[in-house]
Amino acid sequence: MLSGTSSIYESWDISIPQITKPSMFYSLEPIGLGTPYVESLTSYICRLAEAHSVRTGTLVLEEIIPRIQKYNSVRNRKALYRNSGAINNCGDEESYKGSIVMILEDLCQRKDLSLLTMSIWRSYISLSWLHSTNRKWCPVCFEEWRKMRAPIYEPLIWKIKCLKICPIHNTLLVERCTNKKCNKTNKHLGGNLNNGFCEHCNKWLGIEPDDDLERRNLNLDDEFKYYEFISLNLIDLLTISQMQSGEQIKKTLHRNIIYLKEKIKNKNLGQEIRKVRAILNNYVSSRSTLSIESLFFVCSVFGITMNEFINQKIEKANFSKKYEAKGQKEFIKKRKIDWKSVENTLEHILSVKSDHVPSLKQISKDIGIDIAMLRDKYPGLSREISKNYLRYKKSMNIENKNNTKNKLQEAMIILHQSGVYPSANRVANEIGRPAIMLQKEMYNYWKSLLCNLGYMSEDR
Ligand SMILES: [Zn+2]
Ligand SMILES: [Zn+2]
Repeated sequence: MLSGTSSIYESWDISIPQITKPSMFYSLEPIGLGTPYVESLTSYICRLAEAHSVRTGTLVLEEIIPRIQKYNSVRNRKALYRNSGAINNCGDEESYKGSIVMILEDLCQRKDLSLLTMSIWRSYISLSWLHSTNRKWCPVCFEEWRKMRAPIYEPLIWKIKCLKICPIHNTLLVERCTNKKCNKTNKHLGGNLNNGFCEHCNKWLGIEPDDDLERRNLNLDDEFKYYEFISLNLIDLLTISQMQSGEQIKKTLHRNIIYLKEKIKNKNLGQEIRKVRAILNNYVSSRSTLSIESLFFVCSVFGITMNEFINQKIEKANFSKKYEAKGQKEFIKKRKIDWKSVENTLEHILSVKSDHVPSLKQISKDIGIDIAMLRDKYPGLSREISKNYLRYKKSMNIENKNNTKNKLQEAMIILHQSGVYPSANRVANEIGRPAIMLQKEMYNYWKSLLCNLGYMSEDR
């Protein structure tokens, strides 16, 4: 036996350690968390699919949609892609858009994915109409990231409707594929979507800054100033909302609104101030959240930054010298239009052969010039564009009809082969178009197929 000193050993912890639930997907870290360039949720979904070596569509259709019972039908899947901008908005927590965040958080075992959506502003900004319908991007950002071998992603800020220029490069964001043969717009989510590439033709969307970046040659000086103002203040908004709680911002904003409202009370001033007064009065009486456009308008009229408006106590606001920064509408009114460049654009659209033919209405919206003005200034070109569009619509119509007829025939053969009488109603339901037989052409086609299958004779 050993004599002398005996040592005291540390006691063992024999309790069973808590093991966190394993995640089904990689717990991919979102890019730019805590910064104004935080990733958007749709971009995250694309990268998640890439990390698992599957198409974005496979991940969405096989793993996400089946977990959202009420949207598990072909029609609603399409609706999900069509309204995919709303996934980054996430306004209504009850809706499937809200639950996508929850599903992904569960699949990836993360708790931070709602930060990739606009829902962070829920308590103080109205989320309606906040997101853009189509995907838009800064080609220079894409190109820079690729050169730096940085991950290619799409920041949440690009998904906000009112952002028109890149806050880093001051270039106009692009909304159509730069492949002239394609020239299509992209939705935020789609089966073949990859960050940085066109969903339709798979063209890389990055461009060197001095390449032929499709800058519109319109005189954008005044309008550009407003876009710049918006992009810088959106950076403020994203930075602050990542640092402060929604409740804190809501409180500061409320206090400042009351202060500004008092400041212009009984003042008999110009149109801008009257509009601001209406916005603020409406806010106080309805206690509803302000739209982002209203926030920017108030900021521009009072010459304050978004940071001051939502993050600081405004002590002094002097509106009298603030007319350097007016509302967007004012700028548009004053904008000098470079008609030569508009004419070139119209001629270019007419000369390009593409699968997608735009309408004059769409073109007028894209280049920001009223359709009546286009018709007045370029009657010949406008007529030609409209004619092209009608021809295109007609051909699309024929193609659609042929597709429907093919589906109808297929469904009838399947029913017939399984010994079921292919009645008009049954076939219509089978192809998911219950009202299709109301179209005379389709009804006659069904009847002729019925004869071919031997259910009735031709003369009936
Ligand atoms: Zn950029
Ligand atoms: Zn394309």
